[in-house]
Amino acid sequence: MRELNKEERNFLNYLRKNCSRVKYNGYIYYLDKKTKKKYKRSRVIYQIYNSVKLNKFNLIHHIDNNKGNDNIENLKVLAQEEHNSLHCAGKRRSKK
Ligand SMILES: [Zn+2]
Repeated sequence: MRELNKEERNFLNYLRKNCSRVKYNGYIYYLDKKTKKKYKRSRVIYQIYNSVKLNKFNLIHHIDNNKGNDNIENLKVLAQEEHNSLHCAGKRRSKK
């Protein structure tokens, strides 16, 4: 795993210090009290470590299925379709 640079670490620290952590649907979010902006922690962490900007069609999957485990090793980016089929395998099929 790569080292984060100072700016990236500062951003993470900023979120940890200035945002309250909220849990919603098992996912952990950072809620910025001033701007009222909500960041999904898994997405923030993934984007920082991989220096990418995810769009809304890229979903973060938790490999161990624990949505609260936002360790970088546990995060995998999947297209919405792939993600759906992964979670719905064996359950109902989505109608198209
Ligand atoms: Zn998932």
